[in-house]
Amino acid sequence: MNGPVRVRFAPSPTGHPHLGNIRTAFFNWLFARHNKGIFILRIEDTDQARKVDGATENIMSGLKWLGMDWDEGPYFQSQRLDMYQKYAQQLVDEGKAYYCFCPPERLDKMRQDQMARKLPPGYDRHCRELVEAQVDVEKRKGTVPVIRFKSPLEGKTAIADLIRGEVVFDNSTLDDFVLLKSDGYPTYHLANIVDDHFMEISHVLRAEEWLSSTPRHVLLYRALGWQPPHFAHLPMILGPDKSKLSKRHGATAINEYMDRGYLPEAMINFLALLGWSLDDKTEIMTVGEIIKNFSIERVSKTAAVFNIAKLDWMNGMYIRALGTQDFSDRSLPFVERGLPTGVKRPIDAGYLEKIAPLVQERAKLLSEVPSLVDFFFSDVLEYESSLLPGKLEKRQAIDVLKKTLQALDGIEGWRAGDLETSVRPLAEGLGLKTGPFFTVLRVAITGRTASPPLFETMEVLGRDGCLARLKVALDKLEPGQK
Ligand code: GLU
Repeated sequence: MNGPVRVRFAPSPTGHPHLGNIRTAFFNWLFARHNKGIFILRIEDTDQARKVDGATENIMSGLKWLGMDWDEGPYFQSQRLDMYQKYAQQLVDEGKAYYCFCPPERLDKMRQDQMARKLPPGYDRHCRELVEAQVDVEKRKGTVPVIRFKSPLEGKTAIADLIRGEVVFDNSTLDDFVLLKSDGYPTYHLANIVDDHFMEISHVLRAEEWLSSTPRHVLLYRALGWQPPHFAHLPMILGPDKSKLSKRHGATAINEYMDRGYLPEAMINFLALLGWSLDDKTEIMTVGEIIKNFSIERVSKTAAVFNIAKLDWMNGMYIRALGTQDFSDRSLPFVERGLPTGVKRPIDAGYLEKIAPLVQERAKLLSEVPSLVDFFFSDVLEYESSLLPGKLEKRQAIDVLKKTLQALDGIEGWRAGDLETSVRPLAEGLGLKTGPFFTVLRVAITGRTASPPLFETMEVLGRDGCLARLKVALDKLEPGQK
């Protein structure tokens, strides 16, 4: 197959797409972009019982958030039922598939027997050899059949997987799987290959869990006289404890990463390394670099390990690399959502921009920004008065506050430099080390012992705000002495 590269992401709309789904989408997208091919979005919505409202929108918003634009689609399998029915019927007509009238009770009993006898599960081919007359009798009774594929009873089916090499399956392990259900909907196997054929998919890149379905697909392609696409089954993603990735490892639906304030560029970089690598060492890459270098040859066979600590580290790197304005703009919705309800809305974007450079270094996630900046926005700080003296005596803390208030009272400018020039020497005058001296001021100004640089913080807060805070602090230590 030497035509253009055409790949697809084919999620089932059964909930929020999780990290594994999105990694599959991303590798397909990368492969398309690297090869100047076409990336198709196809919604495999044939399982009506498992369909979840809003899932398709979530899939699309997740892709858009990460910059994965699609060239065709979304196609919906539920709108293409005629096609699947047509090919299921063709296979029946050619004797390659058959009607099965087995009622659910019979199938249940068969499964229980198989379990009891420790036999592999699978249809026992009860209807495989029904003659036309028997089919007619059943149909006249009004029983609606399913259509099953006549899997070969012997021989082997080999798949040339682009990642795993040749994988061979014994046909005797494949049962006569359903192609068309009695409600007229196709199963995954039928719809998937009919679509891959007519959408001219050149490469199927999908999760390893689908590998066991692939011999069925290859047999179906053959039965229909079609050329199968190339297959590449992507490695599993495990948690750091090497068990299957789950919520326990911090891996959640993709929209939760968005809500927690991961940057899409960090997410993309991280996803790329879940099963692919440029070399043995490069960690930080732009999407352009990833596209340029992406190849199936460098997708690993062994499972990838998901490590949330690494993602957090990477996100911090990307946050620090943002321009201040950009950081502020991206933080704004988080601040809007995350500050206490008492704070006036809408949040003043210009004010946040002044604060942003003071906290940018310290945020690993955008969702941390509100708690880093909240004291800039509240008129009344909530903290215990015992926090103020820190290592000092209460008396000394009172002196720190009084002296600072005096010094600031007459000060002309309110720039960090001016503030520092007039305040820093006070420590020595009081015979105090700067550390404990500044702690008192820091708590008074920010309500906490760790904060962005004090004088820059004071500059942003402004004269009135700072003086009011220092007075409140003094009042906490010496009530009624103003
Ligand atoms: N609908 C399947 C899924 O949910 C598609 C698997 C495939 O790519 O063939 O992942």
